[in-house]
Amino acid sequence: MNLARLLKDPVFRTVGAAADSLGRPCYVVGGYVRDLIIGRHSKDIDFVTVGSGIELAEAVAAGMGRRRCHVNIFRSYGTAQIKRGALELEFVGARRESYSRDSRNPIVESGTLEEDIARRDFTINAMALSVNAATFGELVDLYGGVKDIEARTIRTPLDPDITFSDDPLRMMRAVRFASQLQFQIAPATFDAICRNASRIEIITIERIKDELCKIMRSPRPSVGLDLLHRSGLLPLIFPELEAMAGISVVHGRGHKDNFYHTLQVVDTVAAASDNEWLRWAALLHDIGKPATKRYDERTGWTFHNHNFIGAKMVPRIFSRLRLGMGENMRYVQKLVELHMRPIALVEDEVTDSAVRRLINYAEDDLDDLMILARADITSKNEEKKQRFLDNFDLVERKYEYIRTLDAERARRNPIDGNEIMHIFGLSPSPAVGMLAAGLKQAIKDCEIDDTREASLAFLIDLAARNGIPVVNPPAMEEEKEEEKPEDGA
Ligand code: ATP
Ligand code: MG
Repeated sequence: MNLARLLKDPVFRTVGAAADSLGRPCYVVGGYVRDLIIGRHSKDIDFVTVGSGIELAEAVAAGMGRRRCHVNIFRSYGTAQIKRGALELEFVGARRESYSRDSRNPIVESGTLEEDIARRDFTINAMALSVNAATFGELVDLYGGVKDIEARTIRTPLDPDITFSDDPLRMMRAVRFASQLQFQIAPATFDAICRNASRIEIITIERIKDELCKIMRSPRPSVGLDLLHRSGLLPLIFPELEAMAGISVVHGRGHKDNFYHTLQVVDTVAAASDNEWLRWAALLHDIGKPATKRYDERTGWTFHNHNFIGAKMVPRIFSRLRLGMGENMRYVQKLVELHMRPIALVEDEVTDSAVRRLINYAEDDLDDLMILARADITSKNEEKKQRFLDNFDLVERKYEYIRTLDAERARRNPIDGNEIMHIFGLSPSPAVGMLAAGLKQAIKDCEIDDTREASLAFLIDLAARNGIPVVNPPAMEEEKEEEKPEDGA
């Protein structure tokens, strides 16, 4: 098969010419070839040559005109990298690898193109495209990669038990590719993942995290999450999530499977938003359920306070998975804690003050909270589901209304800065700003009415608390004068 028509970027000819000048074969390999055939866009291009990758990179750079590109050389790995616009070109010599049992760092030696291809993880990642002028665009597909792309299948080129035992990270990669590309894992390959799952323990948590995050960013994260569960990897890498799977039954009464409920919520959120942390919030929204599960003869299954217990678990999970302990963690934690509020609100009466309370709790994250709350309605009872969603519409209409109302209130300002300066005998200064901002906030938060009278009373009180005396008492509020401000002495 010749795919020259897909190699449109002139860079491929440039690299081919440099390889020809050295008299060496050179191929594009791996993920770039896979994505080219699938029609996905990728920016990392890996080139393999037989011999030194560094030498080839230097010849390529010379061909491009040194000033237009920079070569990064990694001698200990025998690789070199050239950045060119948005593209990252990586050059490496073909190699063969042999593994020992307790490390995923293989012994690496130079090898042939065939050996280099055989060490790759999946058939869809094990294709090479020639860029030498005489064979430009010719595909080397020794393991049926094109066929597997057509069949949408992830399969190892060699014995899957050896592939996964050699480098257990590949099990995570298989699941991740299945989730990203929405491919299936071939049965023999999947069975080998199940058999080798425990080998994942030699992989560092950072690498596991990277794959997990790619699963979470994929179009339907449930594909990858379910594969992790069914293969037996999940209890080893994410026991809290695994603990949600399954249904307990007492006296013939069961509860829903919280793991599959969660997957459904994650997918619904993923369809509505690209915000990866909102997806994490969906993944963790019920994480407190296993710990709070109780059976009560009267009420059946309950999960009291699972949102609070869940929120408490978030930092531990983020820390263990190296997801960062900053803003994103706090955002996820907040959404986990608040995820039931909108439902509680519509189960009760949707009053303005209830909606206002929700706005105050959620602040800038209310839109995200509503996406999560909507996704959380997975009831099979369509009528019930629709009733909830209609009520959420009502909440959202109300909160739009309250938002505009509040914005208007904030704009209306019964007493402006000039008058503040006059009343308190101040010249332009931070004190004036403090008083004006305090008044504005109080009106916005509905602490006081937006009338002149209430504003004056508020201002005089605020000034007094800050040791600022009234110098020119405003006419309409004379009784306030008896409140003698402290002079700070
Ligand atoms: P992406 O860049 O989307 O993560 P990719 O397939 O390009 O996917 P890379 O990590 O960039 O993944 O690796 C490039 C290529 O190197 C792969 O396509 C595959 O051929 C090979 N490869 C990467 N990691 C492994 C591994 N753990 N075992 C075997 N081959 C691997
Ligand atoms: Mg890549």
